[in-house]
Amino acid sequence: MQNPRSLDLETSNKASAATLGIYVQVPFCQTKCTYCNFHTGVVARSLYRPYVDAVCREIAESRALRDVMVDTVYLGGGTPSLLEPADLRRIMDAIRRSYACNLDEVTLEADPETITAEKAAAWLDAGINRVSMGVQSLNDVELRAAGRMHRRDDVYRATDILRVTGFHNISMDLIAGLPHQTCATWESSVGELIALRPEHISIYLLEVDDGSRLGKEIIAGGNKYGAAAVPSDDAMADFYESACVTLAAAGFVHYEISNWALPGLASKHNLKYWRRQPYIGFGAGAHSFDGQRRWANVHDPSAYAAAIAQGRMTIESEETVGAAQALEEELFLGLRELAGIDLARIQREYSADLAARVNKLLDDGLIERNGDTIRLNPAKLTISNEAFVELLG
Ligand code: SF4
Repeated sequence: MQNPRSLDLETSNKASAATLGIYVQVPFCQTKCTYCNFHTGVVARSLYRPYVDAVCREIAESRALRDVMVDTVYLGGGTPSLLEPADLRRIMDAIRRSYACNLDEVTLEADPETITAEKAAAWLDAGINRVSMGVQSLNDVELRAAGRMHRRDDVYRATDILRVTGFHNISMDLIAGLPHQTCATWESSVGELIALRPEHISIYLLEVDDGSRLGKEIIAGGNKYGAAAVPSDDAMADFYESACVTLAAAGFVHYEISNWALPGLASKHNLKYWRRQPYIGFGAGAHSFDGQRRWANVHDPSAYAAAIAQGRMTIESEETVGAAQALEEELFLGLRELAGIDLARIQREYSADLAARVNKLLDDGLIERNGDTIRLNPAKLTISNEAFVELLG
């Protein structure tokens, strides 16, 4: 088959950054969480292998950014830990065969209940060295209401397995705002998570998709999925702010709005997104950026696999990033990092004068300035959207 991307993208192998990230989307889940309406599905396991076949073929036939050394891989979803370890290895082998690799960080997203000793050993053997565990809460009432398969005990069991197997880089996430969450249960989850001592922690505010089961219930009324027990926006903001204090006291560095890490263990792959460094996404709905263009594959896994099998384009949308958009991305993405952005560099590179907007934000206390660097005010992160709106004009 003629590579669907090579036709359009061979000429765009111009990324200036020294390294490349590869993302692989695995759009399968065991159940659908009540708040989620991502392009992920609960499908028969018999469909996993043909999908992996398609991903491996896409990787093998892609020509995009082949001249850039890959140092990070992120196997995300969905729930990629549902795949057989042999299939994850096939994906990793396809990447190594097709791209020059010096793999520093290879992350697998895993739900706690899917983690077994056998799988963990096989993951490590395949070159996966970081596991991002979808914890979400350590309270069983909240987990049940969210439609999660795992319970609190599964998180402890999975953590033990990963540590014994030899994983030294584990990320765990929590969601602030789950139905039935209270100040006490939130603080308990944060405290327990810290005691588990992962190297990396993400905290997300609940985002309920209108098309999800919970979203529909919030709009129409009812309480099957806990719509009436969703904490208020103010409560969510309080949860987030209390976590900022607790995590800092426990030695975690708050390096991005939603992310904390022990020193030196920030996610190298995710930093590429915020720094506008190149990444290639493989699989249904995966996004790519080569420094000049962004493109995305078709979302539907069946349509994606059929396109690959028939040698057709997998790309659903594509855009060239112009100077104005690149400037917006520099501000919008860059400011997510709490270290801030180099305003002088950005103004110089984009011939932009941002002084008036920056001064307004400084006056409002939404950002701080230290020489050429501006950053979000750490005390006002829950209203960071106001800073973005003002800055983007
Ligand atoms: S939140 Fe994650 S695990 Fe839950 S249904 Fe959505 S993609 Fe799957």
